[in-house]
Amino acid sequence: MRILISNDDGYFSPGIAALAQSVTDLADVTVVAPERDRSGASNSLTLDRPLSLHEAANGFYFVNGTPTDCVHLAVTGMVEHVPDMVLSGINLGANMGDDTIYSGTVAAATEGFLLGVPAMAISLVSKEGHHLDTAARMARTLVQHFQARPFGAAVLLNVNVPDIPYERIKGIRVTRLGRRHKAEPVVRQINPRGDTVYWVGAAGKAADAGEGTDFQAVANDYVSVTPLQIDLTHGAQIGVVQEWLR
Ligand code: MN
Repeated sequence: MRILISNDDGYFSPGIAALAQSVTDLADVTVVAPERDRSGASNSLTLDRPLSLHEAANGFYFVNGTPTDCVHLAVTGMVEHVPDMVLSGINLGANMGDDTIYSGTVAAATEGFLLGVPAMAISLVSKEGHHLDTAARMARTLVQHFQARPFGAAVLLNVNVPDIPYERIKGIRVTRLGRRHKAEPVVRQINPRGDTVYWVGAAGKAADAGEGTDFQAVANDYVSVTPLQIDLTHGAQIGVVQEWLR
């Protein structure tokens, strides 16, 4: 089995090293990741300049592009064989609910999925990352499950792992995405040159953390696994919009 690993925190992130380490004896592993932190890059491709690929001392490859660029160039030409699976992460920070729209972690997995490769995005639900090993063990368990029972179709799984010791994880729940309240306002500051600058504010708190959501699962010490699709069509509104345009 061949596994391609990427992320959005950058090739130097402890999360990607933990992920690669967790599956190294299960598969041929190739790591291709952004050269710097591209969290929040979403599904962006770099089209206005060429991309460079370099190999770090530890064998990881890094690219001066986005998470999507990394997986795109790896799957469509850089690696000799199309991988059997794309893993993205382990992200330091949750990717739940609306986060998935902005997430570079989810985007790297999505690019694999769009290119026909089963893919999994793995995020640890805290920026501090006290228990990266918990997420790494879960990733390994899920890859082993995939090896034992191939899914049979392209699949895109969004995995969020509570930042707690492995022994305290209660199990795995298959969830739907929750929703966040709208984001906090931008933070206005004056920079040392006297110019006004703006920092994008924090993500909103959970608005729908109800039964069956990713938010609820991780709040109760379960690993959340959400199957995602990419078709943004609002099926229920097709008739409504047809009626509105008449
Ligand atoms: Mn990130």
